[in-house]
Amino acid sequence: MRKPYIAANWKMHKTIEETEEFINAFLPMVRDITDVDILVAPPFTSLAAASRLLKSSNVILGAQNVYYEEKGAYTGEVSPGMLLSAGCSCVIIGHSERRQYFSETDEIVNKKIKTAMNNNLEVILCIGESLDEREENRTFEILDTQLAGSLRDLSLEGITIAYEPVWAIGTGKTATKEQANEAHTYIREWLRKNKDGADSVRIQYGGSVKPDNIESLMSEPEVDGALVGGASLKPDSFAGIVTGAIKK
Ligand code: PEP
Repeated sequence: MRKPYIAANWKMHKTIEETEEFINAFLPMVRDITDVDILVAPPFTSLAAASRLLKSSNVILGAQNVYYEEKGAYTGEVSPGMLLSAGCSCVIIGHSERRQYFSETDEIVNKKIKTAMNNNLEVILCIGESLDEREENRTFEILDTQLAGSLRDLSLEGITIAYEPVWAIGTGKTATKEQANEAHTYIREWLRKNKDGADSVRIQYGGSVKPDNIESLMSEPEVDGALVGGASLKPDSFAGIVTGAIKK
């Protein structure tokens, strides 16, 4: 059985002080949880402070983005080595907001995953269709394109997939558990057809996950966890999602 995996994507929220306040409140709430992998991805500026507080805890530190070069004249970018030295062991790549507002293509996502993997960073790869694409019945075609482009020439070692239908992100509109499971099943089949080790890859659902819908989503066999935005910003809310993710 795949271990449930719940990740917090804080996006552009929280100063260093706010990050410390969150972690100090959150850690005691989840200290005894061993049945769920938990990750927090604060903004770059909070990583080092978060790392100090998360040391020897059961919470993994992740970043929200990385550049695909190891070093050089790339003003404003952050390398995999910098993430490692800030205490990260994982990075989120290809989030729909990066694709939408920062023009990240599958080719760029693929280069970022390669560099992250070369540096032994685990990766949460985000994929998912827009509302128009779903309404045009193109969901599976979009997933095919994103999976093929993002994972070109790559193994599945250290990869988690986050299925995040863009229409459900930050909108309060959660996919039904059946819609989530259907997409995850499609992704699993794609991985089986195209790569080795597909059955051990965890597939998270993302899109308006909250404490009151996590249990229902997790009851589906192909939902292995969640990538959480808004509801991960408050310690009690995120702890509620972590607790609700324990498979019954
Ligand atoms: C996300 O940012 O990945 C996300 C799923 O956001 P939200 O939970 O706010 O919909």
